[in-house]
Amino acid sequence: MPLPGPDEQRQPPPGTPQPWANADRAQAVMDGADAPEPPAPPVCPQCGLIGERHPTYYGAHALFEPGLTAPAHMVPAWHRWYVDSNGTAWNSGPEEPAPGAECRVPHRLACPGLTLEEVGLWRWLDALRQENARCAQRQADARRMPGGLPDVS
Ligand SMILES: [Zn+2]
Repeated sequence: MPLPGPDEQRQPPPGTPQPWANADRAQAVMDGADAPEPPAPPVCPQCGLIGERHPTYYGAHALFEPGLTAPAHMVPAWHRWYVDSNGTAWNSGPEEPAPGAECRVPHRLACPGLTLEEVGLWRWLDALRQENARCAQRQADARRMPGGLPDVS
């Protein structure tokens, strides 16, 4: 904990990113809370369809399929959203849903303007696929290398 000094009194110039703003932005990216901010209309920038927009607790907004809920266990982790009675939406991240829980369906999952890779449907599978791509590349590089290890297949 730094002691209060002259720097504590200094005001950052306007527009200086605040540490919590960076964390909130990272959270928004991780959660897929990328809806246009009010007063812009709640229109998906990828496909132009209107969604149901809710604010998050960190100031970003998320776009949902209007009026639609789904059994939470049918929705991949990191895409399960819930809306509190005050209208604020939150993403349950990797948490397993309670039995019988229903969650909102983020528009990203149903957007015709995004590829499945852009949606990032199954993060652990995406990570595994990237790791396998690295392994396959290493294997191919080793085979091409003159004087490399002999192929033992
Ligand atoms: Zn869309």
